[in-house]
Formats: sequence, C-alpha cells, structure tokens
Amino acid sequence: MRAPVSIAFQSAKLQSDLSSQRRVLVAGGAGFLGSHLCERLLQDGHSVICVDNFSTGRLENLRHLLNYDTFSFVRHDIVERLDLPVNEIYNLACPASPPHYQADPVHTMKTSVIGSLNLLELAAHYQARIFQASTSEVYGDPHVHPQPESYWGNVNSFGPRSCYDEGKRSAETLFYDFHQQYGVDIRIVRIFNTYGPRMRPDDGRVVSNFIVQALKGEDITVYGDGSQTRSFCYVDDLIEGFYRLMYSPQAIHTPVNIGNPGEFTVGELAEQIVGMTGSSSKVVYHPLPVDDPRQRRPDITVAQRELGWEPTVALADGLKSTIAYFERQLRKPSGKLAE
Ligand code: NAD
Ligand code: UDP
Repeated sequence: MRAPVSIAFQSAKLQSDLSSQRRVLVAGGAGFLGSHLCERLLQDGHSVICVDNFSTGRLENLRHLLNYDTFSFVRHDIVERLDLPVNEIYNLACPASPPHYQADPVHTMKTSVIGSLNLLELAAHYQARIFQASTSEVYGDPHVHPQPESYWGNVNSFGPRSCYDEGKRSAETLFYDFHQQYGVDIRIVRIFNTYGPRMRPDDGRVVSNFIVQALKGEDITVYGDGSQTRSFCYVDDLIEGFYRLMYSPQAIHTPVNIGNPGEFTVGELAEQIVGMTGSSSKVVYHPLPVDDPRQRRPDITVAQRELGWEPTVALADGLKSTIAYFERQLRKPSGKLAE
C-alpha cells in the first residue's frame, strides 16, 4: 500500500488540536450536506477538520463554524494524497448535481475513485473509521421498485451520468476491498435525493432550481413530461441517519439506504413549490436528460431495523424552511437571486 504523503496544516489551531482531541476529517465539508455534518459534529464536541477544494462548496456555508476553536479548514483536492492524523473520516467530497458533475467528468471520476483511495489509505494508516457518502444513483434507472440495498442496479457505464454513477460504484468496491483486505472499519450510506438550506442557488438540482425559479418569477423548467418520480429527504433527517450509522453500537459494514420513502412526480413537486411560494411562474417543458431515472424510492427496512431510523420531516415542512432560506438569500444585498 502507498504511504500517505504530507500536506501543510492550514493553521496553528489545527496543529494544537491534533495532539489532544478526537479528530474527525470531513472531506467535502464546505458543501451542502458537508456543512450540516460539520455543524452537528462540532455541536457534539468533536474536533472537525474540513477538507474541501471549493469546486461546488462555499466559504459562506462554513462562516458560522469559524468561531469554534475545534474547527479547522484545509483547502485541498482529495485527488491528491494527504496526511492528517485523524480518528474518523467522512467522505462527502464529490460534486452531486448533474450539471456540476458533468462539467468535468474525468475529475468527477477521479474524485470518487482516486479520492476515495487516498482517504481509505489514510484510514488504514491511522486505523480510523471511514464513512462513504454513496448514492441511490448506484441503482441507476431501476427495474426494482422501491430499491432495497440487495438490488444491484441498472446503470449505464457509457453515458453522461456514468462518471458519477460508476465512480460511486467503484468507490463502494474500494471500501469493500479495504475492509476485506486491510480490516478498515467502513460505513456506507446510499443517499436518496436530499434538499434543504445551504444548497447553492445555481446547484442545478430540481428542488433548488424550482424554488429559485418560483421566487424569481421565472419559468419552472420541468425536464421530460414531469412523470418521473423522486423521493425527497430533508437534510436534518439525513444527518441523523449518518450519525446513527456511524455510531451504531453494532458495526454495519454493508451499504444502508437513507432517504424518505415519500415518492412524488417532478410535476407534483413543481405544483407544490409554485403553490407554496404563491408564484406566478409558469411550468415549461424541456427535453429529458439522457439516462434520467424514471423512478426512485428507497426501501428503508434496513435503516429502520438496524438503526431505528426513519425520516420525520414531511415534504411540505422541509420545503417551507428551504423556501425561507432562499428568500433570505434573495434579500441579501449581495444575493445572486435578484440578478
Ligand atoms: P455539494 O456539491 O454541495 O458538496 C460536495 C462538496 O465536495 C463541495 O464542497 C465540493 O467543493 C467538494 N468537493 C468536490 N470534489 C472535491 C475534491 N476532489 N476534493 C475536495 N473536495 C471536493 O453536494 P452535496 O449535496 O452536499 O453532496 C455531498 C455528498 O453526498 C457527495 O459525495 C454526493 O455524491 C453525496 N450525495 C448527495 C445527495 C444529495 O441529494 N444531496 C444524494 C446522493 C449522494
Ligand atoms: N429536473 C427537472 N428540472 C430541473 C432539474 C431537474 O425536471 O430544473 C428533473 C431531472 O430531470 C430528474 C429530477 O428532476 O428527473 C431530479 O433531478 P436532480 O438533478 O435533482 O436529481 P437526480 O436526477 O440526480 O435524481
């Protein structure tokens, strides 16, 4: 196995933390989900080192965490090796929105494969527990509905979504191999579409697109005829699921679905957001992207049974706080939404 190489520590604060406290590395911590995870870890007394290359993440997501003495930030691309002594690693680093992960597909693939390899080597070296943010995209355009973890999926290896889907599938394989071959303590969550505050206005995923379009009075862009389905999980529920998996008394080394089984068509989502925002926007139809999955809903039996987890936030309630977040962004003088 390659020995991890060193990178410079960002701050003196980080160097002093390293000697005494339990250290958790969050790769991709400046992103939507990563920033919520960092916040929860800090609130619970962990020392957090966020590693991010800022490709889709934002300093704005972390600003409120900079007051914690136990928080440090390292600007780094996980495709390059790193050496930080840590006790736990969460790997959330990867662009998650189709327009972002398709903008540089080779780097997306490298992030999932080489990035995961680098973090797994770090975990092996420091005997750290390591968590992988995998995805419902490993099921592709599923022929089994809802999707249990035992379903192997229906994924195109040769198309615009493949860099993400196959990258994440390869990462799961690397996690499996490091567990089998080196005894690394792994956790893998398969995340289904999650939304909430701190998504970027230009993220490109459906919930943020529709809310921003509705608030700006722009056309709501439904791709295809809007009959495809997704199951939307609110971010707080997801982070609780991460926690239960990472710290469950009995180690679960196999992938676990975390998502909200409520299933909606994209057309229904558009109607609900237009109604909740009181927008005068009209719905327009654009071509369905290549390989866009027709349906998606998690089977969460394993999470319910093994973790006692299930979602608690209904779509209407989660949308309410997400709309309020984007409204606040809109009111900011520097807000991008009013452009
Ligand atoms: P996001 O784009 O907001 O966050 C990704 C973060 O990773 C960003 O801060 C980005 O700058 C960083 N990053 C990307 N490539 C990197 C690299 N090579 N090195 C270092 N940092 C890098 O997306 P998100 O929604 O917060 O997703 C977080 C993770 O969860 C991703 O791995 C994603 O695949 C996974 N996931 C998310 C969802 C969802 O619905 N939000 C669903 C399935 C899986
Ligand atoms: N979608 C849409 N309009 C948009 C963005 C997305 O109709 O402005 C559709 C997209 O084609 C897909 C669904 O919404 O069928 C969810 O897309 P998203 O990118 O949020 O997630 P994913 O496709 O990765 O599940």
